[in-house]
Amino acid sequence: MPTLGELRDYGARLTIYCHTINPRRCGNSWSPSMDQMVQYFGVDFDPGERRPEFLRRFVCEKCGQRDIATTWHPPANTPGLLTGQGSHDHGPPNPVEVARIRAEYEQGKAIAEMHKANADRMRQEALAAEKARKKLQRDLETGRQIIGPPNPWAGRKKGRWL
Ligand SMILES: [Zn+2]
Repeated sequence: MPTLGELRDYGARLTIYCHTINPRRCGNSWSPSMDQMVQYFGVDFDPGERRPEFLRRFVCEKCGQRDIATTWHPPANTPGLLTGQGSHDHGPPNPVEVARIRAEYEQGKAIAEMHKANADRMRQEALAAEKARKKLQRDLETGRQIIGPPNPWAGRKKGRWL
């Protein structure tokens, strides 16, 4: 963690939250200026390294408690802020991660295509079975023999005995 002087020069902003829950949530927050922080702690103070010492110095103006949390913000003009991309920079994409996500996507696509092919095949089979069932029913209704020897009367002419 950089020192307070570096943070000030960078343009970082600090917000302090009151974390006091008892007797009831205070919820107070304030943003001291970095000049003020440097004045209190010194230019070389490292708020990350000496965090307990840093936090101990704050007292909530509203409830007087010392249960404090801090949040550091990048400078107001940081690219990526208020652009719908989130408030922090993710940096260039990690090629390994990108490859993994792409592989997962391809795998998911292959599985989806397999499922679709399976569904198509099952629908074709169901249609074929339904067609066969209808043909069988039609054959039975019209008296056509489909099992056993061919019907000897099948080719006879109408109106003749034999
Ligand atoms: Zn408070």
